[in-house]
Amino acid sequence: MRIGLFGGTLDPIHLGHLRSAEEVWEGLGLHQVWFIPSGSPPHKDPSTLTPFKHRFKMVQLAVQHIDHFDVLGVEGERPGPSYSVDTLSYLASSLSEEQEFFFIIGSDAFNELKTWKEPRHLVDFANLVVINRNKQSWDQTQQVLKELFPEYSAGKNGRIFSASGKKNIIFHEVTNLEISATDIRKRRRSNMSVRFLVPEKVLQYMEEHDLYVKNPASDPTHPSKWKGTSSELAAIISDEVLKNKGEKVIILDVQGLSSVTDFIIIAHGYSVRHVQGMAENIRRDLKKHGIYPYGIEGEKEGNWILLDYGDVILHLFLEPLREFYDLEGLWSEAPSRIVEDKP
Ligand code: ATP
Repeated sequence: MRIGLFGGTLDPIHLGHLRSAEEVWEGLGLHQVWFIPSGSPPHKDPSTLTPFKHRFKMVQLAVQHIDHFDVLGVEGERPGPSYSVDTLSYLASSLSEEQEFFFIIGSDAFNELKTWKEPRHLVDFANLVVINRNKQSWDQTQQVLKELFPEYSAGKNGRIFSASGKKNIIFHEVTNLEISATDIRKRRRSNMSVRFLVPEKVLQYMEEHDLYVKNPASDPTHPSKWKGTSSELAAIISDEVLKNKGEKVIILDVQGLSSVTDFIIIAHGYSVRHVQGMAENIRRDLKKHGIYPYGIEGEKEGNWILLDYGDVILHLFLEPLREFYDLEGLWSEAPSRIVEDKP
């Protein structure tokens, strides 16, 4: 049995994951692919992670009618952070002679493998299948491979790398569906549709359980000490955006129109660096007022960062992305106000 293992936060599982798994299953002649939602991933903030039971259930719903896909709950059952190397070693210890594992990871994850626990040991337990993510070329991936696994050499087609006594590393090209879980969460939190990005059953589950949309402002365990009104909070946040040279700052009053939040603030920056810098400074300065975000999305990519302050949601875009998502158009019925620097 050749078994593919597809790990990840899967918060939520989407068609990008499923389609890549399907193509690896077909391309490498696997018998099964098992999805493994992570328990508590070491590199993600646990407070902003959807509880394991929901992520697990969504995977279950996504794969339930597909014979060659399955879901494993091992990482949710183990306490503490989930490290892939521990999961693989655990699975390999229960392996029968005829089974072989293929651990599937995106090139984005592979390029950061150095930061994982004992990355070089992964190939003691499973073949690594690296799939292309977004428009990244294989050049960087090849560079990472050289640095981390210098003993590996390329086979004839240049896509399978092997080393004596170790499992193979395989670069496998899949159809690029530019879908990310971060984008799905941001769309949900902005009242936008995510249909056809996730399986219909997963969408239904999200809707039934209010996943990624709920206003967390009433969470009593959150450190935010903000006791004022949401409109005062919106004023403070928009001032911060102006201070950080945010462009075309708009406040939308969605009270009565949305169950998601009271105010949406939109602004853009002139570069990814600017957008990331704004988000960082605003967070830091608001903390001084005892105001902490309930969630942050998209900081790494930096072209759309959502800072969730509960009753106020701040969207910082790169200008073309602001036009693409057109939140102002989506909320065209909401009273809006352009905020400008006081002379
Ligand atoms: P997030 O946006 O929260 O980081 P994600 O969409 O990248 O989430 P993960 O659960 O972090 O999803 O990813 C699990 C694995 O799936 C990783 O190896 C990742 O590279 C890969 N992956 C994620 N999205 C895609 C996609 N659209 N196509 C191919 N692989 C993907």
